[in-house]
Amino acid sequence: MLYYCSGKPSAKRVHRHLWTWPKSHLVAITGAGISVESGLPTVDDTVAGIPLRRLFQPTIWREEPLAAFRAYRVIVSEWRRKRPNRAHLALARAEVPIITQNIDGLHRAAGSTRVIELHGNLRELRCDACGGIFQSDLAWKAPIPTCPTCGEFLRPGFVLEGEEVRHIARAVDWVAEARGLLIVGTELQMTPVRELYELARGRNVPIAWVGDHAEDWVPYLLGEEGRSHSLFCPGEV
Ligand SMILES: [Zn+2]
Repeated sequence: MLYYCSGKPSAKRVHRHLWTWPKSHLVAITGAGISVESGLPTVDDTVAGIPLRRLFQPTIWREEPLAAFRAYRVIVSEWRRKRPNRAHLALARAEVPIITQNIDGLHRAAGSTRVIELHGNLRELRCDACGGIFQSDLAWKAPIPTCPTCGEFLRPGFVLEGEEVRHIARAVDWVAEARGLLIVGTELQMTPVRELYELARGRNVPIAWVGDHAEDWVPYLLGEEGRSHSLFCPGEV
């Protein structure tokens, strides 16, 4: 069963089959749409003169690292002021394991502990030479920060274009054991995250796909808000 959720939730709009929606053993896959209400910039925005889209390309970090890190510092400062919204918080309270395409760290900020960040995150810097991972604070110590362990230049902790996503094997394990899949704020156009969806479809587990108004839908689907009892009872929908 695949249920699309868009627009503001209301019991009348919810299909009666949603009563089978499980409340435990869920796994959530999230993307940029879940963070919209938190006021984060999107890839179409420009920061410190650099289109965000370019910061996800490896060339700028090789060829213009000074400019890239200047933009990085602006972004990290801005991101640190952002707060998780009701969708992040509801997932954290329900202890739903999360597979996210986001690098904003808002799931962890909300208190979620089981989080797979497929595309890495902003709060860390990495060393490709020795594999070290460090806090983003190092980006303020030098115009181009270097690795405290081996002295090589560091790079951002998020995945750049052409690189493999992280922890996909663990994400597959989670989805393979889930009794329900909650997809929030992503079109799942990219592989391999699309394959996680296909896996859940193949297992025939219920899927709720939240396209917009995540901050309303997610608490609702987790039974926190609205007429959740009637939502899950076919006789009253
Ligand atoms: Zn190193």
